[in-house]
Amino acid sequence: MDQTESPGQAEKILEREGKHIDAFVAERRGRPASPAEAIAAVEDVFNLRRRYFGATGEHFGLLELEGIRLIDALDERLLRGIRELLKAFVEAHPRRIPDLKLLGMLADKMAAGSRPMPQYPIAFMVLFTIRSHFERFQEIVTAKPDEVPELEHALVHHLLGVADRYVQTRERPVMRHFSDVAREYSVVSRLKCPCGEEKYEVKTQSLCQRSDGSPYDRLDLQCRACGARRSIAFDLPHFKDMYQV
Ligand SMILES: [Zn+2]
Repeated sequence: MDQTESPGQAEKILEREGKHIDAFVAERRGRPASPAEAIAAVEDVFNLRRRYFGATGEHFGLLELEGIRLIDALDERLLRGIRELLKAFVEAHPRRIPDLKLLGMLADKMAAGSRPMPQYPIAFMVLFTIRSHFERFQEIVTAKPDEVPELEHALVHHLLGVADRYVQTRERPVMRHFSDVAREYSVVSRLKCPCGEEKYEVKTQSLCQRSDGSPYDRLDLQCRACGARRSIAFDLPHFKDMYQV
């Protein structure tokens, strides 16, 4: 089972980079005084991605299991940080509700420019969406220069909605379990065989139990090109949700 190729190193990077994200967010949280400043703060947090991609790439292949797991974990941390920043801003300005017509228009225009999100998205998909929304937003404000402050206000609420939907899939009972399962397939679909083949085939998936009773999924994979086999374990910490509904 090649679940932990270099556990010590991966954990060190996760801890260090995770702390960096959290500290960065904590320092900026509550500071933005306007929607424009809140958007700028989100972009600053977003740019931390470069740093942990660099740190991860020094030790792990970005298409190898440890690299994928590490980036996914840090992407989730980043996305939660973005949500926290936006939430703090919106809660500090409770009387400022955005114009709903404008918010609807913005959501429609944003959706037109991006792919629909799967039911249980992985954090990087949501981050791509946020990135593409920033780009779309630039086009929209260029066409409507008089409405920039109102549009920025609507964007903050729109982005908070995007981040909130993701966090719900990771925290709500049952949803969080299905989200864990969706992520297994996402990890496998990005995994590359050392022979150069882009994709593994999932031969079997089995629900297993460790000696302490904790459940995990075991995926047995085979490379279509060279025939190499490998097995990956995915923890299912929320499996018990399935029996509590
Ligand atoms: Zn291969």
